Amino acid sequence: MTSEKEEQSRKFPQYLCKMCGKCCKSITTEYTYEELKKMAKNGSEAAKVFIDIFKPYSSIEQARKIVSEQVDQVLEELAQLKDFDINKITFYYCPHYDEENKCRIYENRPECCRRAPNNPWSCMPPGCGFEGWQFEQRERIKKEVRKLKEYLVAAEAVAEDGIVPGKNITIEELKKIIEKKISPLEKYGSRLW
Ligand code: SF4
Ligand code: SF4
Repeated sequence: MTSEKEEQSRKFPQYLCKMCGKCCKSITTEYTYEELKKMAKNGSEAAKVFIDIFKPYSSIEQARKIVSEQVDQVLEELAQLKDFDINKITFYYCPHYDEENKCRIYENRPECCRRAPNNPWSCMPPGCGFEGWQFEQRERIKKEVRKLKEYLVAAEAVAEDGIVPGKNITIEELKKIIEKKISPLEKYGSRLW
């Protein structure tokens, strides 16, 4: 584990989990089931662990029969993402929770369960203990993106001959550096922040 990952792991507020088990019944990923199987076949350990543990509902309607509120909330959130395609969405459930929604393999649960929600934009079920934390994280990241954009505008305003004053780079290079930092967030709407 890199030191950056260790740091993130240390900061992850796992105590916020209410252990309600809702997310164990309404899991989705950014990949289709077919893509996950292919990734597992090609050696992705994370994809292999995922398809070993989680079972796909046969359709969104079947998932809705079990966890309708969760399915609707997740779909509503996903619909705001760039390139959303409902035909690519599969819902999964885990066979390892008991009648009281407690994890039967808690000590050995996979990393994706230990780290859920995986990122501030992960679609979590209504009432998830991480709602406030996710909101704070999203706002913090939006603020950072805003600062980068403002920095670029300010640099453009004072540039001389296309060079950023005090830095040994051109405005075009600075623009590329900033775009590279922001582009992974584009699917969450960073162009509008
Ligand atoms: S829905 Fe949220 S609070 Fe409930 S078990 Fe999952 S991560 Fe924990
Ligand atoms: S392994 Fe445990 S924590 Fe993970 S989804 Fe299944 S029941 Fe939930």
